[in-house]
Amino acid sequence: MTAVGREALAGAADGAPRIGVLALQGDVLEHLRVLARAGADPVPVKHAAQLDEVDGILIPGGESTTIGRLATLYGLIDPLRERIGAGLPAFGTCAGAILLAAEAIGPDGSPSPQPLLCCMDTVVRRNAFGSQVDSFETDLDVKGVDGGPMHAVFIRAPWIESAGAGVEVLATVKPIDRDGAPLDAKVVVARQGHILASAFHPELAGDPRLHRLFLEIVQVSRGQPAPTGK
Ligand code: GLN
Repeated sequence: MTAVGREALAGAADGAPRIGVLALQGDVLEHLRVLARAGADPVPVKHAAQLDEVDGILIPGGESTTIGRLATLYGLIDPLRERIGAGLPAFGTCAGAILLAAEAIGPDGSPSPQPLLCCMDTVVRRNAFGSQVDSFETDLDVKGVDGGPMHAVFIRAPWIESAGAGVEVLATVKPIDRDGAPLDAKVVVARQGHILASAFHPELAGDPRLHRLFLEIVQVSRGQPAPTGK
């Protein structure tokens, strides 16, 4: 357990769902903090055996090729795929949404060969909104999240290019192209049963509502009422 894990764990209520945050690269600390605020008992996960001790797994944003490579080195790809495939609730944000996808393509639509968990019936376009300088923030209505729009931070974000019939669209964004012309709406938050994916970084805006939605999914899978966070 790291100091960060201990800090995030301090104060978790009895019976709070234990949520693993894949701690190989990316926004691990931020997610541990928001999960604790949302009423979870969060723990950094680096080893396959830890997957047996969590009620849900969050795969953070970062760099999907790096996280995928490290997950391969740590022997985590197959255990993650198997556990999530067997019903372990999963939440992927940005790079995490890419890792959960069945297929990744590059910004120009060419294949992006990289390790993927293939848990969601989605094709994800990496860096879809452009490069680092095209990162942006916007307010977004998310289905299932009450209380008004969420402030969404997109950093070299993907969008969900296409999805199977079992994938529910929870939020879309209408991007503009390089000449300022509006493009069709693109899917940026989606759910497939016990799996949630977000193209933006919900851990960066100080708003725990999307994490709470994930905890509701986890609690339903545990047959328990949703936790009350702060
Ligand atoms: N562009 C990154 C990738 O392809 C994702 C960026 C992010 O997670 N903020 O993996």
